[in-house]
Amino acid sequence: MSASAERVLVLPPTRRDGEVTLSLLARSGLEGVVCTALAALGEQLAQGAGVVLLTEDALFDPALESVLAWLEQQPPWSDVPVVVLARGRQATPAMDRVLGRLRNVTLLDRPVSARSMLSAVQAALRARRRQYQIRDQLLLQERTQAELRDGDRRKDEFLATLAHELRNPLAPLRTGLAVLQAMPAPDARFAGVLAMMERQMGQIVRLIDDLLDVARISRGKIELVRQPLELHEVVDAALESCAPMVAAARHEVRLKLAPQPVWVDADRARLVQVLGNLIGNAAKYTPDGGRITVELGSRGGCAELAVADNGVGLAPEMLTRVFDMFVQVQGCVSRSQGGLGLGLSLVRRLVEMHGGTVDARSAGPGLGSTFTVALPQRAPPVAASAPHTYRVAGAPAPASVNALRVLVIDDNADAADALCLWLQSMGHAACARYSGSAGLQAARALRPDVVFCDIGLPDLDGREVAARLRRDPAQHGVTLVALTGWGNLNDRQLSSRAGFDAHLTKPVSLEEIGRVLAARP
Ligand code: ADP
Repeated sequence: MSASAERVLVLPPTRRDGEVTLSLLARSGLEGVVCTALAALGEQLAQGAGVVLLTEDALFDPALESVLAWLEQQPPWSDVPVVVLARGRQATPAMDRVLGRLRNVTLLDRPVSARSMLSAVQAALRARRRQYQIRDQLLLQERTQAELRDGDRRKDEFLATLAHELRNPLAPLRTGLAVLQAMPAPDARFAGVLAMMERQMGQIVRLIDDLLDVARISRGKIELVRQPLELHEVVDAALESCAPMVAAARHEVRLKLAPQPVWVDADRARLVQVLGNLIGNAAKYTPDGGRITVELGSRGGCAELAVADNGVGLAPEMLTRVFDMFVQVQGCVSRSQGGLGLGLSLVRRLVEMHGGTVDARSAGPGLGSTFTVALPQRAPPVAASAPHTYRVAGAPAPASVNALRVLVIDDNADAADALCLWLQSMGHAACARYSGSAGLQAARALRPDVVFCDIGLPDLDGREVAARLRRDPAQHGVTLVALTGWGNLNDRQLSSRAGFDAHLTKPVSLEEIGRVLAARP
């Protein structure tokens, strides 16, 4: 504690009084400072004070206002004690008002003995020391909170980097599997092993995507691409994404869908992710051969999507906790198909970003669960008022494409080679280059129809490669596709500004590559 923190600031009526008071204080080991006027007292207060000692006369001095203003502006932990030596006059309302504004005040009627005055000052100092203790506690608390926040931020950054780095080696593995699948099987066991590897790969990709999403949401890096969206279509897409899991567990799926369209303003991919997550959980936490019901309706201006199952259910105390990060119900994990306890926390955050709510209901363990998402409903967009058809679940056959000249530029040679192999197995002429400048050189020789280009390249950055290709009249009509680990709105805008036609986030699925090729003008 600084030396000035325990000073007794004395405003005596006369110089002589000041000297006597100082020597009294000194005899008790207290440091006193005599202030000759209220203005000086105000200045001394700012430098630190344990107690203020003044006489009643000062209460009627207009210069007291600056001292009162200082006292009123103290931080929450601080309340400087003021000891007033009064003449024992009848209290007046004006005096009461001033005493009230002095806040932590002790009134001593004069004549007062030296002993009484000293004991009042010492009691006030003890109170002041407790205030300093509270201040130190608050400072410690603030520092701890700042450290926790910093640790939390570093954890989020670590998760984001980890997920991002894990995605890179997955891309070539995924593509490699697809290449193997397109080849004739050398052995009867080949297909089974490949299918197992595909399943496990899908599981790893899902976990990493969840991790990355959580890290991005925590850092405010997820932007929704909202548009008018019809929810029957979202139900179809979510069911389609979970179909293998539901079929593997032989669950029966019942649909109770509103006959009329239900419109919301939402990010399609994110809503499919939300509903897919709930259906996936229903499949995971329901013994094989169970029943999953997906409902779509509207109530009180809200669109409602509900997923009910007749599975393991939830104890009442878990109904809200399951939405917290990393929470898993004990005993459930062993029978589930893995997970990090992130899915429902993602669901809640994404739903809330849409201005909606999600809740869980269950009659108890063993009695199934129902998860309901409510989103603000909107009127159908004008162009959509004509009758429309819903897409039927089930993957459409990929559109066939003509043979194309494709150039892949990626410094991850495994990823580039695997993609080339797959493109070749699809009948395209594909070749790979592993740096921006080598890519540009190859483009001049090959005149590709399509270029898939990584953004983070060692020499020329992928955006620069795209910009140069766009400036080259010989490359007129080439389709440029960015392949990158970063997929937020800003990254997409930067890609589009550089001249890319499409922006795919790694690990890119082969369906996405196929779609880009098929969509070429
Ligand atoms: P994960 O499935 O990866 O463990 P989630 O956040 O999706 O993480 O779910 C958190 C926990 O909530 C799960 O571990 C499980 O215990 C419980 N849970 C989720 N969905 C259901 C469900 N439909 N029925 C019973 N329990 C569920």
